[in-house]
Amino acid sequence: MDLRSRAAQIHRRFELIVALLIIAGVALVLASADSASASGEATTTPETTTTTPTEAPPSAEGDPAGTPPPATEPAPIEPVPAEPSATPAEPDPLAARRRSSPRISSARVSPATVFLGSRRHAVFHFDLAGNRARRLLVKVVKVSTGKVKKRFRLGRVEPGQRQRVAWDGMLAGGDGASGQGEHAFRVFAGGERAAVSRDSETQRFGFYGNRFPLLGRHTYGDGFGAGRGHQGQDVFATCGTRIVAARGGRVQTKAYQSAAGYYVVIDARGTGQDYVYMHMERGDRPRAGSWVRTGETVGHESDSGDATGCHLHFELWTAPGWYEGGHARPPTRPLKRWDGWS
Ligand SMILES: [Zn+2]
Repeated sequence: MDLRSRAAQIHRRFELIVALLIIAGVALVLASADSASASGEATTTPETTTTTPTEAPPSAEGDPAGTPPPATEPAPIEPVPAEPSATPAEPDPLAARRRSSPRISSARVSPATVFLGSRRHAVFHFDLAGNRARRLLVKVVKVSTGKVKKRFRLGRVEPGQRQRVAWDGMLAGGDGASGQGEHAFRVFAGGERAAVSRDSETQRFGFYGNRFPLLGRHTYGDGFGAGRGHQGQDVFATCGTRIVAARGGRVQTKAYQSAAGYYVVIDARGTGQDYVYMHMERGDRPRAGSWVRTGETVGHESDSGDATGCHLHFELWTAPGWYEGGHARPPTRPLKRWDGWS
């Protein structure tokens, strides 16, 4: 092969490469124009396609239709990526305070009503929520006055460990019993009252000095006086209904008498008053000299002695008590109050 023909061959190859490059270039331009038109932002020239952001809305600021959006205006897009990173990164001072405040969960009190001198105390259960131990103080307050009746220092408490506080209604330092009414347990840490989570029941309970002495359905019969020197209140119920001490104390008398039938006199602890229960069954009465708690069985409803139909004849005697120098006082109103909360 001579030099000329070789040169011509090289030239043809060069022309072929140039032609291929041009075809490739045109194909690229067409492809980009095509994708732009597919996103609805097609403009007549490929130059505008590259300078105008495809995401830019045509008239975000309410421009008249047909006005092309400014090519350098990224405003509508800017906040979108900025927002999600800003919210979790920025700490909310209130949220942080909420997290650090003491909080308790699964709080509850049982029973709903507690009686002075009863075996059943007000028992408060709760968990410390959160993830750090705290020194806790539990207060019992009388709801109507807000006065603190008792304090329990629990020391350092780990979260999630079931706590239990029981209160018998007595004040600190042997100062007798709290007043009657609604009470509540409250938890404090570092002087701050703990918030209570929604899975909690009430922290309140009723505290009373006496309970109603009959455990069953009942109706009121003759009251005090009743035209014949009746010294008590009769309460009718099904024969055998359990009778409990309205107020605990020492059993002063356990006896039988032709009018009273089988009866019991209890020297109510801390009052000087005597509570008298008559017309009972013979059995199940506490012996004289023993101590009974509020709510403990003192007998069962019957018609022993001079009685028509099974009923409890109940008397209240002022200090110093039944045939000890006291006198019978009308028991109907107190009985009905006790009935209301028992
Ligand atoms: Zn009677």
